[in-house]
Amino acid sequence: MHYEGDIIRPPSEADAIILQITTGCSHNRCTFCGVYRKKKFSIKDLQIIDEDIAFAKAYCKRQSKVFLADGDALITPQPHLVAILTKIKDHLPWVNKVALYANGKSVRKKGVEELKQLKELGLTRIYLGVESGDPEVLQEIDKGETPESLVEAGQMLKDAGIFYSVTILLGITDRLKSKQHCINTAKLMQKMKPNQVAALTYMPLENTPLGQRVKSGDFKLYTAEEILIELRTILFEMKECKTQFYANHASNYLPLAGRLPNKRDTLITLIDSALSGTQSLIPEHLRAL
Ligand code: SF4
Repeated sequence: MHYEGDIIRPPSEADAIILQITTGCSHNRCTFCGVYRKKKFSIKDLQIIDEDIAFAKAYCKRQSKVFLADGDALITPQPHLVAILTKIKDHLPWVNKVALYANGKSVRKKGVEELKQLKELGLTRIYLGVESGDPEVLQEIDKGETPESLVEAGQMLKDAGIFYSVTILLGITDRLKSKQHCINTAKLMQKMKPNQVAALTYMPLENTPLGQRVKSGDFKLYTAEEILIELRTILFEMKECKTQFYANHASNYLPLAGRLPNKRDTLITLIDSALSGTQSLIPEHLRAL
């Protein structure tokens, strides 16, 4: 496989064939994100991708999923992406799920008709980084999105019938904005109605603007208790959300998973147990990005 640089994928794609179709991220400005800082964004040649598909055809017969990397692979021009999905269908017929990362801009650029075409060609799942539903926090982290633009992207994915998962971030803003971050993130989830929501806890990377603020002491990392209070506030406010909720990423202090709204009270009770000290937390040294 022709991999360039570090490759990341969501935990749920651990068993997928990773096909790198772009390098880096076309946005690459989020203040907390360091994975693609050194990578120049590019769309890889079809010839290279063909060789990787040929490799998978020969050696990856036991893997039924494909994950298209890197950061926002959905930004790939439609004819190029159509060609890749068609080749996966033709050469890897045992693959029944294809997923990729996207951002709001790449979803809106496609539009519903192109998204439907991708779904027909086998694209089954999109992972969308949202991080916050608060306009000020989105601006502060340089997400390049507003709550309204994210609702528009979510509606397009719904209209195209594509399963989509969003990530939200805990401990990402100054404490004064923590409550509005939580309340507006819950509100945004209620408007976007994603199939699943994954909450991650911010961990600093030195090669990022926010990581540098942590290093200089200008931004103080949240304590485990403050993170749990954010998690509780978001879940409490997601009253009408029908979605699968996860907070079991390695960055989190308290692994949680459950279907909302049915499990909402159970999850909140677990958080309360952790806050009162009767439920143990993941030790700091075992947390990771
Ligand atoms: S968080 Fe996503 S959109 Fe932002 S820089 Fe990282 S990969 Fe790009």
